Amino acid sequence: MNSSSGVSCVTAFAIMRSDQVFALIDCNSFYASCERVFRPDLAKTPIVVLSNNDGCVIARSYDAKPYVKMGEPYFQAKDKLRRHGIMAFSSNYALYGDMSERVMTLIEAMVPATEIYSIDECFADLSGIQENLTQFGRKVRSKIFQCTGIPVGVGIAGTKTSPSWPITRPSACRPRLEVWSTSPIRASEIGFCGTPR
Ligand SMILES: [Mg+2]
Repeated sequence: MNSSSGVSCVTAFAIMRSDQVFALIDCNSFYASCERVFRPDLAKTPIVVLSNNDGCVIARSYDAKPYVKMGEPYFQAKDKLRRHGIMAFSSNYALYGDMSERVMTLIEAMVPATEIYSIDECFADLSGIQENLTQFGRKVRSKIFQCTGIPVGVGIAGTKTSPSWPITRPSACRPRLEVWSTSPIRASEIGFCGTPR
């Protein structure tokens, strides 16, 4: 299965029981993923999205990240994009706002409470959810992908302000790491399935 299927390799670590459990659900390369939803022919083509008036790069698909920096001026990157077969899109904020609403609505329907943090990420309160959190994270990810075409990462921790959030969020080198937690949560849910690539 590929990384966009929503159900491929999953890594999760959970160690200690706690009453409060939160997930940070973060859309992967959100603007680029939105563009891909409507251009499925570009599933394997690296994509960047440009700021207003095509000024600079403001989003990159994970396969474009090794070649283009965030904020790089488009006029400077043009030749490089062509050389590496990277497709550039003008930004479409109406589309991104609409896709964000769809993703957030799905999350809200699956968890007791949410706090939208930005256009492409939200905190979800998982306290009281009885099922295995790794499986629940997979279910959230799979549902969002099936309904919207947007791949997301799900990080789980005992607090919203956990210092582990920044290091547990998806990065260019971990596009397939889909559900994870470095914070202790539930002893019974320690899991490792597949190899992050
Ligand atoms: Mg994101």
